[in-house]
Amino acid sequence: MSFRESISNQYQQRLDSGLLRELKTVESAQGVIVNRGGRQLINFSSNDYLGLANSDELKAAAQEAVTKWGVGAAASHLVCGHQSPHESLESDIATFVDAEKAIVFSSGYMANLAVPSAFLSRHDLLLQDKLNHASLIDAGLLCRASAKRYRHLDVDHAAELIKQADEPHLMLATDGVFSMNGNVAEVKALAKLCDHENRLLLVDDAHGFGVLGENGAGTLEQAGLKPTGQTLMIGTLSKAVGSFGAFVAGDSIWIDHLIQHARPYIYTTALPPAIVEATRASLCMIREPSRREKLHENVALFRNVATENGVELLDSQTPIQSVVFGSPTDAVHASERLERQGFLVVAIRPPTVPEGTSRLRITLSAAHETSQIERLVEALVA
Ligand SMILES: *Cc1c(COP(=O)(O)O)cnc(C)c1O
Repeated sequence: MSFRESISNQYQQRLDSGLLRELKTVESAQGVIVNRGGRQLINFSSNDYLGLANSDELKAAAQEAVTKWGVGAAASHLVCGHQSPHESLESDIATFVDAEKAIVFSSGYMANLAVPSAFLSRHDLLLQDKLNHASLIDAGLLCRASAKRYRHLDVDHAAELIKQADEPHLMLATDGVFSMNGNVAEVKALAKLCDHENRLLLVDDAHGFGVLGENGAGTLEQAGLKPTGQTLMIGTLSKAVGSFGAFVAGDSIWIDHLIQHARPYIYTTALPPAIVEATRASLCMIREPSRREKLHENVALFRNVATENGVELLDSQTPIQSVVFGSPTDAVHASERLERQGFLVVAIRPPTVPEGTSRLRITLSAAHETSQIERLVEALVA
């Protein structure tokens, strides 16, 4: 079989098994209402949890910064791309999450790729939750350490694997909020497990930062912890923050090492300074509790109305709410049916989720109105 035939067969196989991924263009700015296929849809698929991506405040900050700083950062951080906005953002983030130091990456995917390979060598061990985000799984492929996965949320299993390990250094990596189930890692127990000189805990809080905790600092804050000692936190700036980029926060000793060794930091251009300024504006906004409170009210409303109407949901108290169908075609049909009724709810299928757990992944935003949430549940019931 030729190379072309083999690629073409793989495409056909995906199509036949209902697993083909399709790009569908959104013809408007992001928000609760978006245009797709010439129609207005109520959006329940975005990670813009606080409705900030297209907010006046972030737009104004970005516009003002474009005038002052231009568009491109023109070089990597260590050459000459690290500008005053980047420096200020790193210190703003460190203050926000109560860490000694923070370093900004171009995306969460890159931050996740960077951390295990910067700290672990061939003789070490990377231990991960079975349902960690794809970027952490890829990080395991990139770093030379041995890799093991423990059963989802199972701290005892993680402890058992740690007990068996004879590697000199061990990193345990977990999503803070799991991106497809919306449930939260047992970070307190995991931090206790890693409070040991040879172990490091990495919490990827892409969906917790800006959403959980009294000040919105995320899963660690909610658990009464912070990124210090043997704990490192990754946060994305592209979800609740409504902007773009990511960070790693922790004690200076770890962050200084990343500046020396994190290849996805060293060998890429720094973020556009205007995006960085928009992010800084957003950090001021997300610290303020009103949007977060509204978001949690919307999550509670959705769960109450859905449960009252017999819609079965996964156990999640975060804005990520999943309705599992099992078969990929059932999930896709449900998504298409909702789209005909004016809702954008994307179906998530393997390999993003495990085989047999294809689902509608519904995400709530502080910007949703009560009637929009009630109408979604009506459509789900039908
Ligand atoms: C979205 C996501 C990422 C990637 O972040 P980007 O900034 O979009 O690259 C990493 N980890 C988790 C858990 C995510 O959900």
